[in-house]
Amino acid sequence: MRVDSDILVIGSGFGGALVATVLSQLRYQVTVVDKASHPRFTIGESSTPLADRTLKRIASRFKLDWLAPLCSYGTAQDLRPHVTVGLKRGFSYFQHTAHADFQPRQDRSTELLIAASTADHIADTHWLRSTTDNYIAAKLVDAGGKLIDNFRVHQIDRSDNWSVSGCIASDAEPTQNPSSVELTARFLIDASGPGSVFARDFIRGDDTSQLKTHTAAIYGHFSELQDWNDLYVQAGGDDRPHPYVSHRAAVHHLIDEGWVWQLGFDNGVTSCGIVLDRNSLSANPLANGSGEDLWQRILRRYPTLQKQFADARLVAPSRLVVRDRLQFLRSVGAGSQWLALPSAMGFVDPLHSTGIAHTLAAVEKIAEMFSRCSQDDPFPSHRFLQAYADQVRSELLWIDELVSMCYAARFDFSLFAAATLTYFVVVTAAEKDERDGFLSVNHRELLASVGSVAQRVRDLRKKHASGVASPSEIRETVVWIRKTMAPFNQVGLMDPQKQNLYQHTAPPDKTA
Ligand SMILES: Cc1cc2nc3c(=O)[nH]c(=O)nc-3n(C[C@H](O)[C@H](O)[C@H](O)COP(=O)(O)OP(=O)(O)OC[C@H]3O[C@@H](n4cnc5c(N)ncnc54)[C@H](O)[C@@H]3O)c2cc1C
Repeated sequence: MRVDSDILVIGSGFGGALVATVLSQLRYQVTVVDKASHPRFTIGESSTPLADRTLKRIASRFKLDWLAPLCSYGTAQDLRPHVTVGLKRGFSYFQHTAHADFQPRQDRSTELLIAASTADHIADTHWLRSTTDNYIAAKLVDAGGKLIDNFRVHQIDRSDNWSVSGCIASDAEPTQNPSSVELTARFLIDASGPGSVFARDFIRGDDTSQLKTHTAAIYGHFSELQDWNDLYVQAGGDDRPHPYVSHRAAVHHLIDEGWVWQLGFDNGVTSCGIVLDRNSLSANPLANGSGEDLWQRILRRYPTLQKQFADARLVAPSRLVVRDRLQFLRSVGAGSQWLALPSAMGFVDPLHSTGIAHTLAAVEKIAEMFSRCSQDDPFPSHRFLQAYADQVRSELLWIDELVSMCYAARFDFSLFAAATLTYFVVVTAAEKDERDGFLSVNHRELLASVGSVAQRVRDLRKKHASGVASPSEIRETVVWIRKTMAPFNQVGLMDPQKQNLYQHTAPPDKTA
């Protein structure tokens, strides 16, 4: 088989499929190949107000009526049974102590709840990616795009055009004679994530060492996980002042090793993962034993979590996924007649769920670039492509600054809360005014203030490691962070009166 297209996209995750759909709407002939076939298990499920706003703009600008319902929990119900989501009212954080039951406190010093919206119907969602990606990929085909599943790339060549040779071979149905495929295209988009074959052949440099965050993860989908809020109440917690039921959110359980995520879906399945902070662990916990062993060993250290998982069953994939360093950063993100989506250029971390929003922001940028092209110049110029890649790279480095600051603060929950709320000051500023780029990355004063907060947090962590960070110094730092971020704090975050419970932070269209 031979397929000639204007644009070839490698990877049909929601990012690749959506950018391809938009480009099809712009009358390009687009082919998307993926090594897997939909529906398939994948990770990266917790959406955010920023993601929803971008999705809404893309849907409206490119007349993708079928996309708009994904923007909030209420409208996403209209997409059943094709799409399964979960209710995400905000971000919940709970501090656990090893070998002790979770201890709710009257002053809320072991919890932090940040509501993004005021009601369920306008809330954000967790995307069950097997269903959302399948839905978007099907719409790509409706829009005239071509999707080739189970495609194994053999070779990518570049002359005037791109030519990619490969074959169609399914893991599920192995065959002796897989059919070979020759693809040609004038422009190539790499949307294939960390294991990109395009990067393997065409990008020499690797800048991962520039990233400060260093984490690994073990994860899977579980059924029969006990509702966290029931355990919270059983432990003596008073949930009445909570802005939402605490597990109807992206739940983060902080533990010595890192943190545990829990994202619930409406079909009774919960995405769970343990993120290991390699900067704070002397040895690599993944070095010995299986992922399952390590999972059990960690749960055993935290009795309330162990209780929560007592009846839980792994339902997808068949084994827990184990990933050593999650971070990567490629030195180049675009070139003559090609570009990469963020997920193929670099990745920082699941903490605070930046990935979906970042991917959508890039899809929007790409769509705008291509919509300005003409019949005479059908593809963005090298200058525009370079500007795109520089921007995405600076966004990845900015996410790394914000996220690594939160990891550095983990040794004390009040400091972690201050660092996390610094992140949310940034997010809410970006939600109110997106002219400064993704997460306000081009807002110089904001960057400088966060930079000084991050530095102070790191200095304090060093002192803590050598045993000389006193509780009063931590308290003073928290107060100093509040003052430093005050000029940018538009929604009343870091208010001691609120006792770590924030009723809502999203901009007006996310409030009832
Ligand atoms: C552990 C973890 C947790 C995360 N949690 C969150 C979260 O809660 N919220 C959030 O916003 N983000 C999260 N992210 C980030 C999120 O996963 C990404 O931002 C998102 O998946 C990017 O989507 P994408 O479609 O661009 O790429 P991907 O989802 O990575 O899709 C890539 C596609 O390319 C295909 N592919 C790969 N190699 C090849 C090949 N050689 N040939 C053809 N096809 C290929 C794959 O099959 C896949 O379909 C998380 C990431 C990780 C690693």
